[in-house]
Amino acid sequence: MDRVVAAERDGRTVAPGTALLELAGVTVRYPGRTALHDVTLDVAEHETVCVLGPSGSGKSTLLRAVAGLAEVAAGTVRLAGRDQAGVPAHRRGLGLMFQDHQLFPQRDVGGNVGFGLRMRRVPRPEAGRRVAELLDLVGLPGAERRSVDELSGGEQQRVALARALAPRPALLMLDEPLGQLDRHLRERLVVELRELFRRLGTTVLAVTHDQGEAFALADRVVVMRDGRVAQVGTPVEVWSRPADDFVARFLGFRNLADATVGDGVADTPWGRVPVPAGTSDGRHRLLLRPSGVRLTPAEDAPRALVRARTFRGDHVLLHLAPERGPALEAACALREAPAEGETVGLAFDPAEVVVLPAGAETR
Ligand code: ADP
Ligand code: MG
Repeated sequence: MDRVVAAERDGRTVAPGTALLELAGVTVRYPGRTALHDVTLDVAEHETVCVLGPSGSGKSTLLRAVAGLAEVAAGTVRLAGRDQAGVPAHRRGLGLMFQDHQLFPQRDVGGNVGFGLRMRRVPRPEAGRRVAELLDLVGLPGAERRSVDELSGGEQQRVALARALAPRPALLMLDEPLGQLDRHLRERLVVELRELFRRLGTTVLAVTHDQGEAFALADRVVVMRDGRVAQVGTPVEVWSRPADDFVARFLGFRNLADATVGDGVADTPWGRVPVPAGTSDGRHRLLLRPSGVRLTPAEDAPRALVRARTFRGDHVLLHLAPERGPALEAACALREAPAEGETVGLAFDPAEVVVLPAGAETR
């Protein structure tokens, strides 16, 4: 196993400071539709970047453009500094794993994992060793002779991953890699994948519509909307400071409103809400995180009716109908959660108020 790791690390390298993958102004058009608009994005060596966005936002098209499977109408795709225009897909040194991992049903596990090695005419004994190492790596030691259709969904996913990794791709690209698996398995595999990519030093570009998956896997997240990049940042950055309304809503936040700020307090549809120190006066778009909507016994606090409660494991999400303003969500400890139909007083924690950048109103 250590041998595999060392070999992967010694594989391809790019000059220090150069991204392994660089997209500059990439545009892809299908008849009657631009699927990718002017996308600029770098992936550093050993980095895992996850592209996150709703269905139809252009995630698969982005991967196809990098792979050489979609025609790039404008812009450039560079790998290790080299423009890929005119380079056919099979010469780009990429590992690809699609959502429906498409194992070859007539081949056994070993035949599937060794596929790319045979294509590259790697001698049999060496290919055999490599297949065995990869099966070890993905937690299926000795599975070479098993038939792929007797494997569980999670095992098939591991075989597909081993197949994509076998030729030591410079860049591994995953399209909704865990999309078909049930939640429990997905959560476990995502941790295993991250650990594996770390250990191998693999450079990964993955796409998913599942924010949990993206945040668990990625060093950096790219949020897409209608073929454009809406935000790029570390999971913490994107989560704590969504760039706009769209990103905030996509992440599941609902407490968004226009407000006028003066002297550290915002005038909002829900009443007066304290904002973080340093917020400039004027019109802003505000996000109130559910964890910052607190319940208070204070008599003069704005009031809200508890319309519903959603159990979230470590907390309860309260769906509130305030006397003033649109619906609000509040996160609350299970022990302290009021019953449906109760009326509560509201207080707002400025530390959990996010002021979205100006002009971020995008609905
Ligand atoms: P995602 O992977 O984020 O769901 P896609 O990249 O598959 O999105 O698609 C982006 C947009 O391009 C969608 O509107 C989709 O319908 C369209 N599209 C994708 N592939 C083709 C194609 N081969 N021909 C025409 N339109 C396509
Ligand atoms: Mg897709």
